[in-house]
Amino acid sequence: MKIATKFIHAGAEPDPSTGAIMTPIYQTSTYVQEAPGVNKGFEYARSQNPTRKALEEAYAQIENGKYGLAFSSGVAATDAVIKLLEPGDEIIAANDMYGGTYRLFTKIFEKFGLKFHYVNMQDTNNIKALINAKTKLIWTETPTNPLMNIVDITAVATIAKTNNILLCVDNTFASPYLQNPLDLGADIVMHSATKYLGGHSDVIQGCLVMNDAALREKLYFIQKSCGAVPGPMDCFLVLRGIKTLHVRMQRHCENGKKIAHFLRNHPKVKTVYWCGFEDHPGYAIAKKQMRDFGGMMSFELKNDNAEEVKRVLSATHLFSLAESLGGVESLINHPATMTHASIPREERIKNGLNDGLIRLSVGIEDADDLIDDLNNALG
Ligand SMILES: *Cc1c(COP(=O)(O)O)cnc(C)c1O
Repeated sequence: MKIATKFIHAGAEPDPSTGAIMTPIYQTSTYVQEAPGVNKGFEYARSQNPTRKALEEAYAQIENGKYGLAFSSGVAATDAVIKLLEPGDEIIAANDMYGGTYRLFTKIFEKFGLKFHYVNMQDTNNIKALINAKTKLIWTETPTNPLMNIVDITAVATIAKTNNILLCVDNTFASPYLQNPLDLGADIVMHSATKYLGGHSDVIQGCLVMNDAALREKLYFIQKSCGAVPGPMDCFLVLRGIKTLHVRMQRHCENGKKIAHFLRNHPKVKTVYWCGFEDHPGYAIAKKQMRDFGGMMSFELKNDNAEEVKRVLSATHLFSLAESLGGVESLINHPATMTHASIPREERIKNGLNDGLIRLSVGIEDADDLIDDLNNALG
């Protein structure tokens, strides 16, 4: 089945009680049983909900996986993966990733005796060098947030398989429209569905998708035991969002390309980080593992003193200054003080995330209007 058809029909079955084409919002906490243990597969809504079930099926289908699990946020989905581990286990994580993931690892899980190593995964030898008998998980993100570095998923998956280590890929930036890590050998795909999957900046949600039944059972057990499940209304919103993912992503990609080139040619811009440039160090791998290059990018100004950066960040009108990404409306963001503020400055700078970096989530407005807006702001 082609992607457009899949995204529209994923998880969609007419409601068995009414034939409703859209899965209803089953706003209930519990389900009436005929006799103890005699029920229709639904007992209590932390464990099962029909709206969530339809969405979990959709998650699985759009990532070419067997099983999907929905969580109350992206970080709740990440949290569930880490809870597969035992004290003493080691995790190798990308050194350029979502700040909230870094915060969860360092501030919450380190104190439970887990050891995290952060490495530059563009060179997969850095991963190999850290593997030992305690290594249980590799956590990566590609394209990375916010520097748009590319990690070779197939290469990392080979290392993980050879050493019997789980590989989880945060696929939020690419979305399943651009990239399907399970097809490339990953064990788990994680998404902040808050971003492209929801697509309309109106919901917080996360998901995991996997192929292995035993892994699914473990993660389902964590999902219901820890209880970070999304409500049915939120599940409905993401189900609706997924139906237009391919149409939105096409436009995100078209607009992203135009804006990346506009910025690169602008006299006041020093560097543009976008993985669709042929001279981007990860271009060949991006071309191999992604269908297109998306609408996320970052850039630095030639004059990157704090005042000028602040002025530009406040001078756009169509690009709203806000955290988050992946919605239909364009956003501008300052990683150093916003999305990545929880990473210590020294660590940030070491990884190339400078104080002056500006990140864009290019929306699906008219590209000419977006370019005018940036042009006026750059001055
Ligand atoms: C937003 C984001 C997350 C966290 O997801 P929430 O839904 O905000 O909890 C994780 N990874 C990436 C790449 C993100 O952009």
